[in-house]
Amino acid sequence: MSPSPRIPGHRFLHSPGPTRVPDEVREAMSRQPMDLGDPRVDALIATCETGLKRLLGTADAHVFIYSANGHGAWEAAIANLVGPGAAVLVAGTGHFSESWAIQTEAMGARVIRTPYVEGYPIDVAAIAEVLRADTRHEIVALFAVHTDTASGITSDLRALRQALDDARHPALFVVDVVASLGAAPFAMDALGANVVVGASQKGLMVPPGLGFVAADVHAMAVAAANPAPRFYWDWARRDSEFSYRKFCGTLPQNLLMGLEASLKLIFHEGVQQVTDRHRLIANAVHAAVSAWSEAGAVQFFCQVPEARSVAVTAVLVSPGIDPEAIRSVARERFQVAIAGGLGPLAGRVFRIGHLGDMNAAMILGCLGGIEAAMIAQGIPVGRDGMRRAIDVLACG
Ligand SMILES: *Cc1c(COP(=O)(O)O)cnc(C)c1O
Repeated sequence: MSPSPRIPGHRFLHSPGPTRVPDEVREAMSRQPMDLGDPRVDALIATCETGLKRLLGTADAHVFIYSANGHGAWEAAIANLVGPGAAVLVAGTGHFSESWAIQTEAMGARVIRTPYVEGYPIDVAAIAEVLRADTRHEIVALFAVHTDTASGITSDLRALRQALDDARHPALFVVDVVASLGAAPFAMDALGANVVVGASQKGLMVPPGLGFVAADVHAMAVAAANPAPRFYWDWARRDSEFSYRKFCGTLPQNLLMGLEASLKLIFHEGVQQVTDRHRLIANAVHAAVSAWSEAGAVQFFCQVPEARSVAVTAVLVSPGIDPEAIRSVARERFQVAIAGGLGPLAGRVFRIGHLGDMNAAMILGCLGGIEAAMIAQGIPVGRDGMRRAIDVLACG
């Protein structure tokens, strides 16, 4: 194979994870590892734990960080909370709730799923019904994905907490914020989430490789009483002063250096400013997609405007249009890397990631590249997208 020619300029990364890694984070990660007795190791862990707690909005939850991806963090929650044969209610959102449900079943749990309707957020009434019917309280946890990255839909977590409270159901509320943390507003304690699950490579702007969970006192008690065998994921084993035990072995130092730097960037900008910036950029994306839609060939996958994610937008294409072709032209000719459809949405949508280290000019470049890719392929698109996106960014 002949080497491909150098491409001038840079490629815009608009996958909803992994996301672009800021220079400050890459530089922090390029430092040398430390010996495990170096006092800077403990300081690094402490800064990451404290920073994650602050970003998650929790005062007292225990934070456990793993050398793992988001699936590892899912497994940590399942392994600690769910005993053999226990029941878990998984709120249907689409591809990500289904993947979590399958993983939970594979680990021996009985999973109850609520149905989901394509294009719509979690059916809270269906959740409430299942909880009310479970009078013997066999369900140990409600698992809910905040933003389903495949559909670009963000669900109303407060309504789920309310459903648990209204049913007076003691199930733990376990929330996946992998795609929403650092993009959408979230506060664990104020919400009343018992466990939160996250990963490094999306809103946190760190390369893939870190998964984490935060567990409150109720979740820690459920875990302590759970006899299911576990080792690497075990919260009791990791709940230690010693870094070697906290990480069940050698800690992923350079990723933690990256996390420390990314949290510093987020707090320096301000958490509110970060979520406001994501809101504004998402509004620009949504303005462009709604203009493109006017020619009838593409449309929003999410049918509920308020539920459209601030992190990722899924665009449904009409039958006969290949989103993978749009994706490859956007990437190869216009240097804009976007994502494709997952699970049942493969071949039906393309997805624009707009989270993390992102600004107004970057999103205009991204939208321009996607529009150009569609035009280059003769796909009918409303031509007012760029102007409307600019109006949003210019006028708030
Ligand atoms: C990306 C993602 C995951 C899985 O994370 P991996 O790091 O790919 O294992 C889980 N949940 C949500 C909502 C995600 O966006």
